[in-house]
Amino acid sequence: MNLMYRSTRDSSNRVLASQAILQGLSTDGGLFVPEKIPVFSKTMEELSHLDYRELAFEVLKLYLTDYTEEELKDCIDKAYDDKFDTPEIAPLKKVGQAYYLELFHGSTIAFKDMALSILPHLLTKAAKKNNVKEEIVILTATSGDTGKAALAGFADVEGTKIIVFYPKDGVSSIQEKQMVTQKGNNTDVIGIFGNFDDAQTGVKAMFNNNELTDRMKKSGFRFSSANSINIGRLIPQIVYYVYSYVNLYRKKQIIEGEKINFIVPTGNFGNILAGYYAKCMCVPINKLICASNENKVLFDFFTSGRYDKNREFILTDSPSMDILVSSNLERLIYHIADNDSQKTATLMKALSSRGAYEITENMKTNLEGFIGGWASTEETRKAINQVYTESGYVIDTHTAVAASVYHRYTKETADQTKSVIVSTASPYKFAQSVLNAIQSEAIPAEDYEQAKMLKAVSGTEIPNAVEEIRNAPVLHKKVCETDKMQLVVENILKII
Ligand SMILES: *Cc1c(COP(=O)(O)O)cnc(C)c1O
Repeated sequence: MNLMYRSTRDSSNRVLASQAILQGLSTDGGLFVPEKIPVFSKTMEELSHLDYRELAFEVLKLYLTDYTEEELKDCIDKAYDDKFDTPEIAPLKKVGQAYYLELFHGSTIAFKDMALSILPHLLTKAAKKNNVKEEIVILTATSGDTGKAALAGFADVEGTKIIVFYPKDGVSSIQEKQMVTQKGNNTDVIGIFGNFDDAQTGVKAMFNNNELTDRMKKSGFRFSSANSINIGRLIPQIVYYVYSYVNLYRKKQIIEGEKINFIVPTGNFGNILAGYYAKCMCVPINKLICASNENKVLFDFFTSGRYDKNREFILTDSPSMDILVSSNLERLIYHIADNDSQKTATLMKALSSRGAYEITENMKTNLEGFIGGWASTEETRKAINQVYTESGYVIDTHTAVAASVYHRYTKETADQTKSVIVSTASPYKFAQSVLNAIQSEAIPAEDYEQAKMLKAVSGTEIPNAVEEIRNAPVLHKKVCETDKMQLVVENILKII
């Protein structure tokens, strides 16, 4: 029996896993969710003997049931190979009382690699399975990290093109350089004069434009998405939550069944949602702590039950979390509404028309297990400094938002539960802000000089991703206004 996926906005829209991955978004604008959350047939003890790839297989086979075991193993082997600079793939480091789950050992040194290394393989296999003849156009909006990770994943993958839109003034200098130097004949990168939400809105509008998709089809193209609205991004992320747990168990840091907390630096709500699925799969998780930066829409939601995006968009030191519309929250809304697609559709309609909605008392009760927290830019800097001063460990600005929330949470609640801070980017990706927080010397303007300084302070090696872009030529120079995004796509595909 195959596990089916249905839309959060219309439960009569049901598809297989491979079809959900191909489509990205449901035709009614909803997101695909599994009809039932599977559970492991193996015990924690059995799982604890597996390495990352073997564990990934155990998770993926439960969710992607219309792929054969050979297909899944092939995807996993191609994804989690020596693109990662450690065979552990997702190492867990004990620093002070907390554990840091380092998800930045892939080719673009941010956690998006965990899913985007495998998505292209899942997608091309899905296309074959479903006899898709058209070329797949991956259309992506990025707050900085998804763009590069998707570009790296899809570059020169046969039968695909990838087009990435990023906020021209809303990403770090390294992030921009990583994207505009991307090689591959099937890649396009465009800076927009707007913020991430503008980019995401523009991309969603193209997905939902039937006239455009018809015209594309005639020319032999179809859209798909590498954004975290694609279930093919979400499911591979469940793996590292399970992996952390069994890792702590194997290292005798916890006993079987002991609950742990996760603190997750959050933007689009994709990463932490994977933690929620892990919890639903009976991984013993106590609290999922959602850490926001100054764009604290989610903190307000968790404390009040009201989601309201009508507020100023703030550019922070953690740009990958500068988001006011957290797309994946829709999946959680659906689940806490007891899988009621009508209710979800109504709330999402309110979000798009009024920019706000409020959940019911019953839904609030179902949110138990989530805690919202947030950190200001100043608190984020302090957290980087504090962790470095106390232990010599250097964390990036996103991880520092979570660290700050964790410090405050443990102080205020005296919760003794063992806690994993999800570390989403290498400090080298945000070297300037990190250096600012930990030392007082003048910081060089040039990226590579900053990396060298960070190396000296932290005693860690400069990652390959930073070496790589050092002298790389800029290959992408396109920019556009937010209302011209579709025109740019039509030009690239020559379908005007
Ligand atoms: C994307 C990203 C986040 C936010 O993850 P979501 O899944 O969007 O919540 C946090 N930190 C870094 C470094 C990221 O790249």
